Amino acid sequence: MSPQTFSGLYIHIPFCRTKCPYCDFYSCTDLHFVHAFTAALEKEILFYCTSFPSADTLYLGGGTPTALPDAALSDIMASVRKQIAISTDAEITIEANPNDLSREKLAHLRSLGFNRLSIGVQSFDDAMLQFLGRRHTADEARRSIDFAREAGFDTISIDLMYALPGQSREGWTATLNEALRFSPEHLSCYQLTIKEGTPFFDCARMAAFQPCAEQDEAEFFMFTSAFLEERGYGHYEVSNFARAEKFQARHNSKYWEHKLYLGLGPSAHSFDGRRRWWNVRSVEGYIEKLLGAADETPDVIRQETMPAGGSELLTDEQLRMEALMLGLRTRRGIELEHVLTFPHASATLQRLQAEGLLIVSSNRATPTTHGLLLADSLALRFVE
Ligand code: SF4
Repeated sequence: MSPQTFSGLYIHIPFCRTKCPYCDFYSCTDLHFVHAFTAALEKEILFYCTSFPSADTLYLGGGTPTALPDAALSDIMASVRKQIAISTDAEITIEANPNDLSREKLAHLRSLGFNRLSIGVQSFDDAMLQFLGRRHTADEARRSIDFAREAGFDTISIDLMYALPGQSREGWTATLNEALRFSPEHLSCYQLTIKEGTPFFDCARMAAFQPCAEQDEAEFFMFTSAFLEERGYGHYEVSNFARAEKFQARHNSKYWEHKLYLGLGPSAHSFDGRRRWWNVRSVEGYIEKLLGAADETPDVIRQETMPAGGSELLTDEQLRMEALMLGLRTRRGIELEHVLTFPHASATLQRLQAEGLLIVSSNRATPTTHGLLLADSLALRFVE
């Protein structure tokens, strides 16, 4: 692969202080591995820095990156900057848990160059936070946003969750209004989905709570879109809203635009335009693979020591379908020329327009809000 083909760098920080019962992202709660993890990550960066010499977006996600001690975050950023040129206007994001965000922590994050903070608030209702197993309160969330502004973060994204069991429209509106009080530049509003393998999945199966009905989920979605659009937040992707176009997430947009990205850390995924590969979903496995080989010098790192979890080579057909699916998740939509490569595309486009799910204009097919609601199934209509 030729250098410079990537530009988005993702680092998965696989640690959380506690596990939320709805979450299926990979993380572990044993922070004893932090030191070995940062050493392993440094080696993974060294391996990829020739084919990935520069980045214009860097995203530390997880897990909970802010659960790391300051020294570990400093080491990670030093390893990245030593090997990869981060452009001066790069978007550098870190995901944060509200109760990690002391004034001191925030000052440290600013000193490391983070210019975008994605805070996992989820709700401003303490009962909902308790139900979600979050380790912060609504007050702590409010305080963390105030502290972040004081520290100089002028691009803040707030993550919220809706369609929670027992959540009323009024309760959700109150949370949205609270979030808007802080004029965040960006909002991510996710619907609670009950995923297999999580404690919530078992609870739902044992009828410990009643998940939100599908019809109610759809109503929450349409309401959220209209509510935030009316207040100046553009609904630019299924779950994402920005106060202005310049605040749309540059890093995540690369995923939706089917651009190339490199993911480092346990369970992280990468895509080079043809091949997708991913790392092992285990911090111990990741460390063992990267640090286990004793016969290497930093200049010679073998592919065999990379912590591969798997890979797939995508066919032209799969790439075309993926680009369509991702494009139809965004308000930008996708070029008509691309859509017309599918058989019977014209008839399908007409049907989707008649159903109020798509609009065709300026040589692009763009989903309506109702289309975004059904984004996952929209692309499949072109291959039925
Ligand atoms: S803090 Fe975030 S990554 Fe960690 S368990 Fe909770 S939702 Fe998952």
